[in-house]
Amino acid sequence: MSNIDPLLPRNAAFAASDVWHNTPRLPFLPHKGLYVITCIDPRVDPFEFLGLEFADAIVGRTVGGRVTPAVIQDVAYIGYLVESKAPEGPYFEAAIVHHTDCGSGLLADEHLRHGFSERTGYDDHMLADLPVLDPAATVRADVERLLSDPRISPHITVSGHVYDVHTGLLTTIVEPVSPVDARATV
Ligand SMILES: [Zn+2]
Repeated sequence: MSNIDPLLPRNAAFAASDVWHNTPRLPFLPHKGLYVITCIDPRVDPFEFLGLEFADAIVGRTVGGRVTPAVIQDVAYIGYLVESKAPEGPYFEAAIVHHTDCGSGLLADEHLRHGFSERTGYDDHMLADLPVLDPAATVRADVERLLSDPRISPHITVSGHVYDVHTGLLTTIVEPVSPVDARATV
């Protein structure tokens, strides 16, 4: 018995609906032009807190919503797909969302972090960079990290936001910036 089994009737209802017929022209051109990068925390579901509907956004989730090398690779790839297959766009906005009370903050506890590092072999210094303790600060850093990576399409934009798990409200910290403009101001 899989935990998925009790949900299969919901899937049958979904399949019987016409929701999934509303697909974008190309799967890498989501309806709302959004690529949301956020935490894996189940309380931090962008389809709920942004009222997203089917195929409205691409969503990438990591611990803390941190911009990891894998996230950069994915954003670079989707940007390249748009450049190659739909150069007229529309290009997406990569919206990075960090949140309050993030479980990644537990990695700031040296004892816990060292234990995880020993258990897994992950570099302790790399892990020490991950905790989201001040989401407004870390989201600014991750917007910068994504904007400054030359593999990212110059046609996209990147924005930064904080979601408060105690109010349900999203606050914009960094308005959308294009990598071209970001490089011009450095
Ligand atoms: Zn989190």
